[in-house]
Amino acid sequence: MTDFSNLTIHEASKLIQSKTLKALELTEACIGRAKKLNQQLNSFITICEEEAINRAKKVDKLIANGQKMNPLAGIPIGIKDLFSTKDIRTTAGSKLLENYVPVYDATSVYSLNNANVCIVGKTNLDAWAHGSSGENSDFGPTRNPHDLSRVPGGSSSGSAVSVSSGSSLAAMGTDTGGSIRLPASFCNVVGLKPTYGRVSRYGVIAMASSLDCIGHITKTVYDNALVLNVTAGEDGFDSTCTAQKSDDYTKDIEKSVKGLKIGIPKEYFENFDWKIKNLILEAVKKLEKLGAKIEDISLPHTEYGVATYYIIQPSEVSSNLARYDGIRFGKTREQFGSEAKRRIILGTYTLSSGYYDAYYLKAMKVRRLIRNDFVDVFKKVDVIICPVSPTLPFKLGEKVSDPLQMYLADIFTVTASLTGVPSLAVPCGFIGDLPVGMQIIGPDFSEKLLYQVGYAYEQETNWYKKTPKI
Ligand code: GLN
Repeated sequence: MTDFSNLTIHEASKLIQSKTLKALELTEACIGRAKKLNQQLNSFITICEEEAINRAKKVDKLIANGQKMNPLAGIPIGIKDLFSTKDIRTTAGSKLLENYVPVYDATSVYSLNNANVCIVGKTNLDAWAHGSSGENSDFGPTRNPHDLSRVPGGSSSGSAVSVSSGSSLAAMGTDTGGSIRLPASFCNVVGLKPTYGRVSRYGVIAMASSLDCIGHITKTVYDNALVLNVTAGEDGFDSTCTAQKSDDYTKDIEKSVKGLKIGIPKEYFENFDWKIKNLILEAVKKLEKLGAKIEDISLPHTEYGVATYYIIQPSEVSSNLARYDGIRFGKTREQFGSEAKRRIILGTYTLSSGYYDAYYLKAMKVRRLIRNDFVDVFKKVDVIICPVSPTLPFKLGEKVSDPLQMYLADIFTVTASLTGVPSLAVPCGFIGDLPVGMQIIGPDFSEKLLYQVGYAYEQETNWYKKTPKI
């Protein structure tokens, strides 16, 4: 079988629509790879062979009949197992929902199906999306294809790994505090956390509702824009989904970054691995060479980010998980793993009377201060560049018994979540064989600008071409 594992959506879609490559051939190759690699990587909980093959055949037929199709038609895609998929088991990575089969599609899945994607399977995740490493799944940990002894990052672990290892060309994920950006960075792929409300959350199992964002992971920046073109937009089923018009995110993506102001926040460049820091600063220099103007900035409330996030998020988790009482969905609450239990207990505590003001309310006030930092800074600069993670992908087992250490992996990602602004994680090099990513953060609804900056950088570096040897 031909090896299609390095194709991007942009390339594959041209081949499919010009009838040079059959969607069926590509889909079979991806399914074959997913099945073969799953023993090692464990990136899929369910592989949807039959559905994907049927869809690919349909696409080939429509194209043979001369129908004009969306660029995503016939493209093999992975879906995080947190998205409801009609007639396809949806587990949230938890044994509690082991046998749960939704009767409807999440809106984003519905849109992707309308664009005729081929769903390769439901990808593995930290149970209920609680985690930073991919180790909290009740279906076993996912492994990093760049080094099998290391974590791929979480919670959208299987999504990042399926793209990085060539089993899918894109994968849907969710990001509440970093769950798309961190695994993207650990696996050398591109991940977008859009602006809060840009993509409908309807049908996606809720973690923390004031923070949850639906996004996706791809090999390249251009491909990422192609997926957002399909998923972004208003949805009457989700009242938090914005009515602001979406865009063609590929249009003008080649626009030069000349004159663009990039802010470097000093708080994000202190006290962590200097090798990672140097790689990010090298990336900034590349953008400077392309004509961007670099400015030192400050986001003074950054140090409160993790503490604020780990009060607000468990509070909302404790409320959202209350519905899994064994009556309406799945098995009883005894099936909750230790991380979900920890968050339910913490969240119930911070919301209880007498503690509400001291914890939850205070955290909400600090959240506003963090938001104000960003609003002020975006009066001076167009985008911010900072690291995704303070460390390289760590060893499996290294942090599982120390929740606090695990939570600190999110130190650079939770602020964009608390403030709702969009952030794009883009590969920016390697230390040894291990990938490093950077974040490009912009003001509300600046996804197009983030893609332009990411694209300009990617054209210079092409890190995505360094695929894992697996
Ligand atoms: N690692 C963070 C947490 O465990 C973020 C998770 C997420 O974004 N879903 O809360």
